[in-house]
Amino acid sequence: MDGLRYEAPQTLDAAVALLAGADGEARLLAGGTDVLVQMDADMIEPDLVIDIKNIPELRAIDAEDGGFRVGAAVTGMEIVEHDAFNAAWPGVVEGVALIGSIQIKGRATMGGNLCNASPAADSVPPLIASGATVRVTGPNGSRDVPVEDIVTGPGQTSLAKGEMVVSFLFPARPPHSGDAYQRFTPRTEMDIAVVGVGVSLTLDDAGTCTAARVALGAVAPTPLLVADAAAALIGSRVDAAALADLAGAASAACNPIDDKRGTIEYRVKTAGVIARRAAEKALDRAQAN
Ligand SMILES: Cc1cc2nc3c(=O)[nH]c(=O)nc-3n(C[C@H](O)[C@H](O)[C@H](O)COP(=O)(O)OP(=O)(O)OC[C@H]3O[C@@H](n4cnc5c(N)ncnc54)[C@H](O)[C@@H]3O)c2cc1C
Repeated sequence: MDGLRYEAPQTLDAAVALLAGADGEARLLAGGTDVLVQMDADMIEPDLVIDIKNIPELRAIDAEDGGFRVGAAVTGMEIVEHDAFNAAWPGVVEGVALIGSIQIKGRATMGGNLCNASPAADSVPPLIASGATVRVTGPNGSRDVPVEDIVTGPGQTSLAKGEMVVSFLFPARPPHSGDAYQRFTPRTEMDIAVVGVGVSLTLDDAGTCTAARVALGAVAPTPLLVADAAAALIGSRVDAAALADLAGAASAACNPIDDKRGTIEYRVKTAGVIARRAAEKALDRAQAN
């Protein structure tokens, strides 16, 4: 790791200029809970590390258009402790809260969790289910992208050279809306998801589901937005038949690997079970709102 250069820009423009102008390999450093581990294990050997924690746009949680804009470098603990965001998006907070220990969450960010592009990243299924969009800024300006369009494969993103994630915009919540994230791991703490499912849904005054989004993690090379699983809920009262259809659609969408945490068959079956649990929890929350 000879000649590693460390920069900590104070502005977004300066960060983008450093990233876009880098000759060798450049890495953004948010919390560093993936990037430093990967450097220590010689999985990556960047020439330039750009610490983005001093950039104001990346560090704030603000109200916007009735929803929230959350900076990409806001820490997990800052999100977990933000009461208004918790009230609106408890499922997203469940995903964030599962990232490592309190110490890890004191550093780790949603931007890093997304851009590390692990298929099993815990905040990503609830982020996709929420319908959040990502503000991406690079040398050619900014664009807003659905969360599900960022990860393209294990460790791979759709970000072009010089681009970075600045923030997430969470839409305003209609009444009777709820979300939830459930994951299954062999251990209860500090483990990687065998399956993770995020569900967000909205009911009308009569209790019929008018909108839903369902996303799966750890069961394919990228987190998946599963339209068939959402379609099983929309138009129903999220009753037993709809939940059975949801579970079937979630299992059918899986394209998992076989590894020490679970066989393909086990992951496919578990995805249906966990999807149902997440939908039941999202339903409870929607009914309470
Ligand atoms: C002990 C331990 C336990 C863990 N447990 C979990 C767990 O249970 N669930 C889970 O999902 N993860 C877990 N992780 C992984 C890690 O903590 C998370 O992925 C975390 O959210 C990464 O965030 P970070 O800010 O630390 O990212 P960093 O390490 O700073 O960055 C990760 C990657 O994203 C890139 N990046 C960061 N920010 C941006 C941005 N704004 N724009 C573009 N690219 C960016 C970096 O260049 C790097 O490639 C664990 C890690 C450890 C060490």
